[in-house]
Amino acid sequence: MTQPIISFEFFPPKTVEGIAKLRETRKQLALLNPKFFSVTFGAGGSTRDRTKDTVFEIQGEGYEAAPHISGISSTKAEISALLDTYRSNGIKRLVVLRGDLPSGEASAGDFRYANELVQFIRQTSGDAFQIEVAAYPEFHPDARSAASDLQHFKNKVDAGANAAITQYFYNPDAYFRFMDQCQALGIDIPIVPGVMPIYNFTQLSRFSDVCGADIPRWLRLRLQDYGDDLPSLRAFGVDVVAELCQELLAGGAPGLHFYTLNQAGIISQIASQLDLTKL
Ligand code: FAD
Repeated sequence: MTQPIISFEFFPPKTVEGIAKLRETRKQLALLNPKFFSVTFGAGGSTRDRTKDTVFEIQGEGYEAAPHISGISSTKAEISALLDTYRSNGIKRLVVLRGDLPSGEASAGDFRYANELVQFIRQTSGDAFQIEVAAYPEFHPDARSAASDLQHFKNKVDAGANAAITQYFYNPDAYFRFMDQCQALGIDIPIVPGVMPIYNFTQLSRFSDVCGADIPRWLRLRLQDYGDDLPSLRAFGVDVVAELCQELLAGGAPGLHFYTLNQAGIISQIASQLDLTKL
């Protein structure tokens, strides 16, 4: 097996305590030799400064930092200014997304879909950035059909994306089938599975309902049974997610991108089951 590409995703903390906690989280996760840390971006620019601050702090510690950048409700001028800031501060990788607006809010921006933003970045910044985009092995919740969603993914690759990170899933076959379909369409960029550790059932159900990730029935029922017993739920979740990661890597996934929720403990346990430091 070639060395898998490991990366970790954070959200930009709001408070002084959150900033301090994230520093500790990074210290622990850095032991797993990630390729980069990425930092999310609130659609409409709500976290813009915090995303920038977090990314620059990570970079200042000597790690590669990749800001997420979302196009929905942003103008070309706003995106250009952000790209200039990132380029002039030595950022080399972006996670490029459409983003989601809070329900009921209409977009007043220049970019409807992520492929338009990828194209704009390539037009204005050439190859200054490695561009990562999102992929959906279980398909995006707005998708009109599986085939159209796949074609829209291909549009992002054709516009210049270098790699993709998937939405999380617990059914490895969804990923392997998606990879087969991508190959049939001539998509040959690395597509790294996004991995959501199981922290809490209510929160996971809520996220999954919004983003269209399926929690298989067997898993949902087992998790429900743990009720308030979080330590047992998490121990079970570590086993389930470590097995999923193992299967994905054994089946040829090029790496793993962990949604950390700014916590390191559970991921460190998954990593030690996988023996990530030795992969
Ligand atoms: P797109 O690729 O534009 O696709 C969105 C939908 O539009 C899909 O259903 C697609 O099939 C459809 N579509 C695309 N092109 C067309 C077209 N021409 N005509 C009709 N339909 C079309 N959100 C944030 O706000 N901030 C973040 O930091 C963030 N980070 C993320 C990181 C990862 C790894 C992932 C997987 C998601 C992240 N998201 C984030 C969520 C993401 O913004 C949402 O899933 C959003 O709804 C779609 O973004 P996208 O870039 O995949 O959009």
